[in-house]
Order: sequence, then structure tokens, then C-alpha cells
Amino acid sequence: MSLVDTLLARVGRPAGRALDPTIRDLVQQVLKEHGYASPAEVQALRDEVRDMRTRVDGMARRLDELTRQAETARGEAAARSAEANAAAVAAGAGAKVEIAALATQVAELQAQLAERAAGAPAATPAAVADATPAEPTGCKVPGCPHEFRSKGFCSPHYQQWRRGTLKGFVAPDGHVAIGDQTFRVKTALAGGLAELRGETLYVDGQAV
Ligand SMILES: [Zn+2]
Repeated sequence: MSLVDTLLARVGRPAGRALDPTIRDLVQQVLKEHGYASPAEVQALRDEVRDMRTRVDGMARRLDELTRQAETARGEAAARSAEANAAAVAAGAGAKVEIAALATQVAELQAQLAERAAGAPAATPAAVADATPAEPTGCKVPGCPHEFRSKGFCSPHYQQWRRGTLKGFVAPDGHVAIGDQTFRVKTALAGGLAELRGETLYVDGQAV
């Protein structure tokens, strides 16, 4: 039998109506019979519930407090982040200024270089010496792999030149054979490399 059925059987009234004191006592008694708490126990339970509610309220306030602190911290963090952003922007602007200054310096240096290139005297003697190609040490007969010994010829070619049989070079007596043609030039040109360009004979690059 349910609690409601028990109550209806004892009271004889529909449930849900306001109960008078007698009926309230009856209800208490039925509740007790069915193992429900006594008024004292109910009161103790109520007190406990009130305590718990107080504790819960305290916890809720503490939670509110923590939430406020968290929000404050978040706000501060946002402010700091904004500061950091501002600093980064300032640093970026500084870098731009530096880059512009460097670009100006580079442009000035380029202008100086152009001036020096235009007026050659800026080149130092050392630079001129460096620019001078190393003295050739090979025999001046094209394609000859030997080191030169005398007059720019290797030993075998020097012998040929001395005998006047080295084609393409002015012999000691001033004659020079190119192909099947023979020419005669100043003996001062002896040893020079001769070549024909059209009708003109060149010795060491000079027309003769
Ligand atoms: Zn040679």
C-alpha cells in the first residue's frame, strides 16, 4: 500500500487539501510508521540542509570572487598584450628607419664607387700591380706546351728560329715565311709573331 493510499484511508479526504493540526499529527504518525523521520529528525535534517545551503552559498560567493579575479587577470593580460603589441609596432617602425638609413648609405657608397670608376686615379698602385697579368712562361709558338728558354721560345723552337726555319715568326735576318709566301721586315722585329690579315702583314699585332 502506497503512502498516499494509507493517508487517504486514514483521513478519508482527497489528497492535496490543506491539513488541519489533527490531520497533521496523523500524517506525522503515518510517516513514522512507514519509517519516515520524526519532527526532531526532520528539523535536524532541515538544519543540516540549511548548513549545506549556507556552505553552498559560501562556495558560490567564493566562486563569484574567483570568477571576478579571473576576469580581472584576463583584463590585465589583454592590457599587457596590447602593450606588447605597441612595443612590437614601435620596434618595427625603428627597424624601418634603420633600413632606410642603411639604404641611404648604400646609395652613397654606390655613388662614390661610380665616381671612382669614372675617374681612374682612385685606383692604388697595388691594385694596378694586381691587375697586371702574370708574365707568360710558355713558349710563344701557338700550341707548344714547353716553357720558354730564349727570346720567348722553348729550346727546340729557339733552334728552329735561329736557323730561320720557324714559319710564322720573323727570323733573325728579318725574313718571315707564312704559308708559301715569304716576307722581309726590319730585323728589329726578329722573333715577332707574324700574320697576314688580307694583304697586310702584322708582326706582334702591329701592321708592317
Ligand atoms: Zn716551343
